[in-house]
Amino acid sequence: MKKQKTEVYNFQSEVKQLLHLMIHSLYSNKEIFLRELISNSSDAIDKLRFKSISSPELYENDSDIKIQISINKAQRTLIISDNGIGMTKQDTIENLGTIAKSGTKSFLQSLEKKHNKQNELIGEFGVGFYSSFIVSEKVSVRTRFAGAKSVEGTLWESSGEGEYKITDIVKKKRGTEITLFLKKEEEEFLEIWRIKNIISKYSDHITVPVYIQNYNETNKTYFWEQINKAKALWTLNKSSITEEEYKDFYKHITNDQNNPLIWSHNRVEGNQEYISLLYVPEKSAWDIWNRDNKHGLKLYVKRVYIMDNSQEFLPNYLRFIRGLIDSSDLPLNISREILQDNCITQNLKKALIKRSLSMLAKLAKDNSEKYQIFWDQFGLVLKEGPAEDNENLSKISNLLRFTSIKSNSSKQELSLKEYIDQMDQKQDKIYYITADSYESAKNSPHLELFKKNNIDVLLLSDRIDEWMMNYLVEFEGKKFQSISKEDLSLNKLTEEKKIKNQELPNEMIDFLKKTKKILGDKVKDVRLTYRLTHTPCVLLSDSNEMTTQMAKLFSAAGQSVPELKYIFEINPNHVLIKKICLIHDEQQFNEWIKLLLDQALLAEKGNLENPHQFISRMNKLLLT
Ligand code: ADP
Ligand code: MG
Repeated sequence: MKKQKTEVYNFQSEVKQLLHLMIHSLYSNKEIFLRELISNSSDAIDKLRFKSISSPELYENDSDIKIQISINKAQRTLIISDNGIGMTKQDTIENLGTIAKSGTKSFLQSLEKKHNKQNELIGEFGVGFYSSFIVSEKVSVRTRFAGAKSVEGTLWESSGEGEYKITDIVKKKRGTEITLFLKKEEEEFLEIWRIKNIISKYSDHITVPVYIQNYNETNKTYFWEQINKAKALWTLNKSSITEEEYKDFYKHITNDQNNPLIWSHNRVEGNQEYISLLYVPEKSAWDIWNRDNKHGLKLYVKRVYIMDNSQEFLPNYLRFIRGLIDSSDLPLNISREILQDNCITQNLKKALIKRSLSMLAKLAKDNSEKYQIFWDQFGLVLKEGPAEDNENLSKISNLLRFTSIKSNSSKQELSLKEYIDQMDQKQDKIYYITADSYESAKNSPHLELFKKNNIDVLLLSDRIDEWMMNYLVEFEGKKFQSISKEDLSLNKLTEEKKIKNQELPNEMIDFLKKTKKILGDKVKDVRLTYRLTHTPCVLLSDSNEMTTQMAKLFSAAGQSVPELKYIFEINPNHVLIKKICLIHDEQQFNEWIKLLLDQALLAEKGNLENPHQFISRMNKLLLT
């Protein structure tokens, strides 16, 4: 026989780094390597099933697909083999020598930060195969791509230290066989009961049967024993599935080690035929804010696995939902491109949005504690909903949570329904204020009038809030009203008397006149107000002008914003205003008015264009 040529390759540097971690870190939960390998085999079988729809010859007359595990105690080896799609030589070099995923860098970084969370992360980031080095001193992979000639197999070998060897081999059966040469201290993984245990913990619900080679003491023969259920969980009857099984299945399909908060399993027949199983996680995925975040459902067509992360079935604002959809109406040869503009997809999407929203509504109704966990994790994502999905606006609105004056805490727990229920009969609007932070919203002078009249105001301080409020026009017939905007209906509600010029003392009329002249076109208008109690003056936005927060959003996004002009309102009852009224020195009066405007600007915007001028003006006045 001809001696086979062996080539030596270097691992990509990220892989080296990763392997170093795998080999030298202390894992509390080493057994996950088996979950990773089984899941790879299961993926390989899913790929074969999918490809063979158009090329049935890939089965090579062997359609009895399975995963087999055997143990050799004498050689201290554990062998996992499958007859899935297999790999070509090129595949092997690419898949088992590099990490193609763009998230690798962030994975490695987060590993360094969160030492105690390494195991959870391994699966999440899809660096599964390399986890075999947690327990092995050497790993060898024999593989052959389905449909290739039986002589075209590849042997991959490595001890995980910088390089790996590739050799051409003959492999009769298609698929992949992985041999782990276990480290001496990992002999527990040579026990059949231990392996069975791990499989039933992690892999009970993969759709491929997993067999283990067992020994019959009486007959003195080896036999293959099936150790998982190998039945697609979602196809079973709801009533026959236990809570534990739903949770395990969730962990299996997501690689998330936390339990889901709630799930919704539905089988729909008739016009549209599908099964969906949707989960709400308890913890946000690490990359939920990345632009290239891979969310989306697993897609099956008539029980056949088609693809992961199909984003076409859920809108962005529900991207935290995990799970699967199994459609009987889509064609098996569907591609991502066709999926996008397909009316079956569109209808499924509509239905799944409804399911997701009602699942969340149910969680809110049945278990407010868990709903709060959800809101704290994903509230910011859900807040994208009003802008993205006008059709379901009222359902989304019901799911939103806020903090308010009366909540007296930054925790967002108040629903709009609760806000309305505690409203006074006379109140017909939902009042809110947006600011950069909770503290700044809570202490805004705009609130003074509302506090005095015992009217609650929603305090909004998430970056997305101002954007969201553009789309939230009303809730159950009540309009939303920003309290930093001019609002004529307020007078009626608070029974504040309208200030008429003829009732004013002369010096106030004078004061107004002079102020208007000094400020000129720096402001839109100057007028007196009785909204304030503790503050001398405040700025209001005109009802049809852009608010301060909106202007900030625009300029943060690099857009040019027209200069904002405010209505400058002055509290005639404030001692400072009364004092300024009595100042006759024109120069000094002038300085005071400019200081007042700067104060109000600072309160409204949180910063000033020229803070130095403000400080020197104030210091000057302090000294007079
Ligand atoms: P992931 O499964 O997230 O892609 P892994 O590190 O677990 O990452 O596997 C890397 C790649 O190696 C897989 O994507 C697949 O292409 C290939 N691979 C691993 N195991 C097998 C197998 N048993 N059969 C075929 N291909 C495999
Ligand atoms: Mg994997």
